[in-house]
Amino acid sequence: MRQENQQHLQPEHSLSVCVLASGSRGNAIYVSDGATSLLIDAGLSARELGRRLESRGLNAADLNAILLTHEHTDHVRGVERLCRRFRLPVFLTAGTLAAAAPLRELPEIRTFACGRPFQVGTFTVDPFSISHDARDPAGFILGGAGARIGIATDLGIATAVVREHLRGCGLIVLEFNHDPDMLMAGPYPWCLKQRIRGRTGHLSNPEAGRLLSDIAHPGLQQVVLAHLSETNNCPGKALAEASRVIDRSRTQLAAASQNEPSAMIRLA
Ligand SMILES: [Zn+2]
Ligand SMILES: [Zn+2]
Repeated sequence: MRQENQQHLQPEHSLSVCVLASGSRGNAIYVSDGATSLLIDAGLSARELGRRLESRGLNAADLNAILLTHEHTDHVRGVERLCRRFRLPVFLTAGTLAAAAPLRELPEIRTFACGRPFQVGTFTVDPFSISHDARDPAGFILGGAGARIGIATDLGIATAVVREHLRGCGLIVLEFNHDPDMLMAGPYPWCLKQRIRGRTGHLSNPEAGRLLSDIAHPGLQQVVLAHLSETNNCPGKALAEASRVIDRSRTQLAAASQNEPSAMIRLA
């Protein structure tokens, strides 16, 4: 009984993370410290997000807030319905809000500015600017339960700002969007190839690998390779690139999937 009371008073001293979906058809990441549960992006339908949460023993009704990286459909598709159904606050930049008209009608809108940390429940959120063709897109550092998580997907280049923020994380969810040769030889029209390769497009495997080699450190427990293109990449190529720069005896690697949620990752 005494133990139960103690558990009730103190949140679990670990972070749980599950990448529910990752890729150009929808993105969402669940993060919880036991006291506060967040979704970073909600780019699947609310129904499908609910189904994926349930498949990992979680419930959308237990979420406390949604944080948005940017307004592209693959990141916001389910936001409106989830927020209305569960009365969730949504945190986003003023630029994202201006570009996503339907979200303006939501009851609990909280805007943040990149570079200015804020609190959501028991989490400290440090948003930073990323280079992407959206109005004011953000990556996030989430601090909670003594751990630090970095989330950076949808970025054309790894700027100094991105590099500095991602240092010192126990877990990083990092974009490994495309293999440059597959992209160039692939079926996309030239204008789309240029957009993806551009400074406000998506990070390639070698670019992400270089970033990772700069920021890897002994406390980096896990890296999840994210937003892999289904047309211009494959998990084997992305994992091979990351393996070249990561000491796999101390850092685990996994590639997130578009079609199914990742395993539940726990950070001490
Ligand atoms: Zn995206
Ligand atoms: Zn995007």
